Amino acid sequence: MGRRFLAALAAGALLSAPARAEWVTRIADGILGTRITVELWVDDPAAADPANEAVLAAMRHVDETMSTYKPTSEVSQVNARAADGPMHISRELFDLLATAKEYSKLTDGAFDITYASVGYLYDFRKHRRPDEQQIQKALPAVNYEHILLDEAAQTVKFTQPGVRIDLGGIAKGYAVDLGIQALQRLGITHAYVAAGGDSRIIGDRFGKPWLVGIRDPRKGPDSVIARIPLVDAAMSTSGDYERFFDEDGVRYHHIIDPHTGHSASKVRSATVIARTAIRTDGLSKTAFVLGPERAMEIYNRIEDIDAIIVKLDGTVVYSKGMQPAAQGR
Ligand code: ADP
Ligand code: MG
Repeated sequence: MGRRFLAALAAGALLSAPARAEWVTRIADGILGTRITVELWVDDPAAADPANEAVLAAMRHVDETMSTYKPTSEVSQVNARAADGPMHISRELFDLLATAKEYSKLTDGAFDITYASVGYLYDFRKHRRPDEQQIQKALPAVNYEHILLDEAAQTVKFTQPGVRIDLGGIAKGYAVDLGIQALQRLGITHAYVAAGGDSRIIGDRFGKPWLVGIRDPRKGPDSVIARIPLVDAAMSTSGDYERFFDEDGVRYHHIIDPHTGHSASKVRSATVIARTAIRTDGLSKTAFVLGPERAMEIYNRIEDIDAIIVKLDGTVVYSKGMQPAAQGR
């Protein structure tokens, strides 16, 4: 199955390109709380800025709609009102909530956007975490089954008070997919779009695959443990080094185990490869919650994905579809 995403490394020679065509890279900080990278092949350099702007517009749209830091966002409105009764929401948000519930089922509940019912008590920037009593009080509200979706009426309702949702676990991947679609509409056939650790690629780099690096979880941002050759694929890496603080030798970081309300620390990092970035983003958190063995079982069970996990002892394990690539490194 990995063969679908992994490029044939021996593929043909470089194509000759039109005279003024070139690769363009643009970097923007501050949208979705992360760094947005856009790399494009454009026949006419004048096309680069509008294309980059189309990607950033998609990212801003997701930020405005989904951010729980913005009280005006649609998700904040849902958190404020959905426990009172069915609430009409946009088609876009409805579909995202349905996708989120699908990922909860795929991952035995490891991915669960109601984690936020406890998660909001953490503040990783301010090194703040809830005590056990606060966690136990909030924990009953964590369960994706508390989100009721009515397809015909296009409404959402929370079955009890105290339920909060946060789409931080799929929003960046979704935004990357929207950015890629915007580029495709502009006729761009070779590009790379990333929002933090979530990335997706259109096409190849003229006969060669894109080489997307997986960062070494315990070294600087530029150190990589592997470079994965990809064509027309998405890849997300979740790491315990993204948003965290250490206290008394324990690392508290931004992925929460929905069953315990504690930060989930069963691996150092997990990378997932699939067709879309919403899928890779949603599934990359599973390993932190379930641990490498159970997560790999699930990753191997899901037909259209591949995965690479860095375990707590620093060893790296690959899903079935990646075995040939791993041996060939
Ligand atoms: P990044 O935010 O850098 O893309 P991840 O893709 O690893 O990092 O996603 C981490 C985010 O996912 C957290 O900041 C939080 O918003 C959300 N999250 C944390 N725990 C869960 C969980 N169990 N299920 C779904 N989303 C989660
Ligand atoms: Mg992510």
